[in-house]
Amino acid sequence: MNSEPPLNPVAVTHPMEASAAGPEILLGLGQAELVAWALAHGQSAFRGRQLHDWIYAKGAASLEAITVLPKAWRQEMASRAEVGRLTVLHRSDARDGTTKLLLGTADGLSIETVGIPSGDRLTVCVSSQVGCPMACRFCATGKGGLQRSLAVHEIVDQVLSIREAMERRPSHVVFMGMGEPLLNIDAVLAAIDCLCRDLGMAQRQITVSTVGVPSTLPTLAERALDRLGRAQFTLAVSLHAPDQRLREELIPTAHAYPIGALLEDCRRMVTLTGRRVSFEYILLGGVNDHPRHAEALAKLLRGFQSHVNLIAYNPIEEENFQRPSPERVEAFRLTLQDRRIAVSVRASRGLDADAACGQLRRRLAAAPQASPLPVQEPA
Ligand code: SF4
Repeated sequence: MNSEPPLNPVAVTHPMEASAAGPEILLGLGQAELVAWALAHGQSAFRGRQLHDWIYAKGAASLEAITVLPKAWRQEMASRAEVGRLTVLHRSDARDGTTKLLLGTADGLSIETVGIPSGDRLTVCVSSQVGCPMACRFCATGKGGLQRSLAVHEIVDQVLSIREAMERRPSHVVFMGMGEPLLNIDAVLAAIDCLCRDLGMAQRQITVSTVGVPSTLPTLAERALDRLGRAQFTLAVSLHAPDQRLREELIPTAHAYPIGALLEDCRRMVTLTGRRVSFEYILLGGVNDHPRHAEALAKLLRGFQSHVNLIAYNPIEEENFQRPSPERVEAFRLTLQDRRIAVSVRASRGLDADAACGQLRRRLAAAPQASPLPVQEPA
């Protein structure tokens, strides 16, 4: 049996393409495109601007809800176009204010998205795929494999859904939810474009996280420069080990991407974008959290324009990995700091809300069918 996950999922690049066989999807289109769409369907440019305002500023979930549009036109368009919002299937709130949503797609699949408040910030952790083919051993999402990549509107919707659920404007977006964003580059970049252009975010408030897929980092940089004009979002690379052997044990797909080649591609990204790279390191008790691992990591990253984020592991049922003690985490951090590596420890959030990526979806998949929660229409 071939245990290697497939690395060629379908990447959906544009909402209109995604819906070639069904109704046109409007979420993901910018104001100029919505104006063109309204004109093409016999309305004025003003109607296109109204559509934009209601979809992005007011969060309209359907054409029918956009009551400023002529009723006859809304009815005529109902079978030909839709906003493209997802359905909220389940909501889970943690005591620390973190909210996790399980969102349903039009084809009956589900994805997770998380809102993480912190002072003035509200960070949305979005998914880029339904499931994930990378099979990282410590990850609940990786256990179920990949179903498909998400389309642009399905990524943008997650930010709108968190805005509505938490009644706050998100300030930051991190592509750290389900899926490997670099296997869905075009849709991820189009979604970043939409978040900046239509929801007023800045690229610097957005982080794209990858575990590493061979040859995709140069493509990401090239396409970001083409599509966005510049690549100012943060690149976060999930390293999780200071050497190739241990990394392959934790991330089976790493065998195809030697750690040296991964770091070389990261260096090129730094040169192209002028932005430092974040390295994510999940600390697994007794596996990769020994001071000798910290020393090896410091040696590996010496002279690199980077920042290391340490994350204490969130246990999942399917694996026996342990969460390290706070003392162990602090010792690891100090070892890096003493060796002049920029490092911080990411606070664990939402531990009582199925915090680990993919946990909520797997738990509910094993439970009786979740019913959709009512979607709030804009006032
Ligand atoms: S950690 Fe990320 S890349 Fe790895 S299996 Fe989970 S979702 Fe995929």
